[in-house]
Amino acid sequence: MIDKGRAPAADDRPTMLPRSPLREAAGWATVRVAAGLNACCGHRRDCGFGILMYHRVTDHPKGADTPTNNVTPQRLRQQLTGLLDRGFRPWTLDALLDACRDGRPIPPQTFAVTFDDGFENNLTDALPVLQDLDVPATIFLVTGFLDSRVPMPSDNWADAGSTAVPESSWRTLTTAQCDELLASGVIQLGAHTHTHELFRGRADAFYEDLAESVDVMDRKFGIANPTFAFPFGITSPELVDAARRAGVRCALTTRPDCVQPSEDPFHWGRFGATQQDTPTTLAAKLGGWYSPLARTLRALQRPLVSIVPKSTREMLLIRNSSFAFPAGQSPAESQPSPEAQHVDAS
Ligand SMILES: [Zn+2]
Repeated sequence: MIDKGRAPAADDRPTMLPRSPLREAAGWATVRVAAGLNACCGHRRDCGFGILMYHRVTDHPKGADTPTNNVTPQRLRQQLTGLLDRGFRPWTLDALLDACRDGRPIPPQTFAVTFDDGFENNLTDALPVLQDLDVPATIFLVTGFLDSRVPMPSDNWADAGSTAVPESSWRTLTTAQCDELLASGVIQLGAHTHTHELFRGRADAFYEDLAESVDVMDRKFGIANPTFAFPFGITSPELVDAARRAGVRCALTTRPDCVQPSEDPFHWGRFGATQQDTPTTLAAKLGGWYSPLARTLRALQRPLVSIVPKSTREMLLIRNSSFAFPAGQSPAESQPSPEAQHVDAS
């Protein structure tokens, strides 16, 4: 049952733009260059800490389209094991927020793990990996879809809701499953709005939606002032102000940057972790090399695109004179991440 029946209808599903092959190639090339620099030079000094963003964690069902925004359980284990082997230390998001608030030092190579949207597979497929490796994580729930039996409209996987694939691959968590996650001692829960709608330019609606989500977090789980991540990575000064008023503790974006401890936690960025990421590429993102390269490419995008003939731009699906790549997404993702589509707005 969807809480208060306020979940959006299926035809509210946000329209996804096709991703430019050039944009994807540029993004992945940047990740590889960053990995090379990280291997040669080690982590950048004073790069702060990093936060990883996952969504779905499931095996690829036979005969189905490749699940979007997905990392398989095996890949998740490989990625996290590789980071631990390289000396990275996982902290909870709350521990990072507490340390930053209190001015306590955060050791080099500290990182946090987050999961957006609250898929059931976070319990069935991700939790065993996290428990085995003793890696804590925060799951950001779309509270209007707790206990829902229908896929979220924002889920852009064609097979979401199909009886041909396991329900856990697309269903959202139930309240009882969230209690189970909390009891594991490994998982913290945060808010990801109540409906996961597009709130660009709708700060008042966003405030009401998030306030309802905050209320659900308190009523159902006893979590006051929950952590929060913007849906679709869409943020603006007005949305940040609304988030503060709604009573959340932080507001994470999808801006692919490490976090400086002095930074306002309502602007903290995160790195998307994809199925194509290896421990090496994730270490390059968390080690501080990816972000400056990505910024440099973004600064060059307009002059570079302007010299490409219009017909070629259309062929390559370059929109709005831009091929800027988002959130550390790698090119081989078969479909665009809803979060990634709007990261440039952050
Ligand atoms: Zn989301």
